Amino acid sequence: MRFSSLARFPILRLLLATLVGYLWWRSHTRTDVLAIFINDGKAQLLASDRGRAVYLWTNVSLGPRRAYTYDALHGSNAEFDAVRQTLYETNPLPEKVAGVWLGSGTGVMGMPNSNYRMISVPFWQLTILAFIPLALGLRTFWRRRLWGTPGHCGACGYDTRFSSDRCPECGSAIPGSKSAEAKDNQTQSQMATEA
Ligand SMILES: [Zn+2]
Repeated sequence: MRFSSLARFPILRLLLATLVGYLWWRSHTRTDVLAIFINDGKAQLLASDRGRAVYLWTNVSLGPRRAYTYDALHGSNAEFDAVRQTLYETNPLPEKVAGVWLGSGTGVMGMPNSNYRMISVPFWQLTILAFIPLALGLRTFWRRRLWGTPGHCGACGYDTRFSSDRCPECGSAIPGSKSAEAKDNQTQSQMATEA
């Protein structure tokens, strides 16, 4: 396998899809919470919890000293029962739209003048979303491996759009350069690749 083709492997998309899948699997036993404190130390929470990803934004302020810092909390699902019940398992119950929960309320953890909004998305939906760019990246990767990048040398990747017959860099034959018919075929395959 040539290095130039390996370099085009969609590794970041694969890592993203793997991370989402891993969090989904892990969320059935463990709850992970990432608390991000924005201006005035206002708490924003990202959590993976029992098959769902939760984003919760609040006006609860921990003061300017905590601004732009974060905390990570981990525990078994049962350890977060009290938090869950306070936030979205008692009134007001979140709205449920196509598997997505939308909630809001006041008095976060008993604190006066506090309020929150939340969105909770099932991990299976996020997994599908994460696999779409991965699938597209893999398709492009395989097409380039099988047919090369259009307009580039199949052996070294050099730009061959202004060359005929042979790559000016490495001397490899350029496929489809010998006849007008071959050129037409190449154009059609390029159009198919771009479509
Ligand atoms: Zn070449």
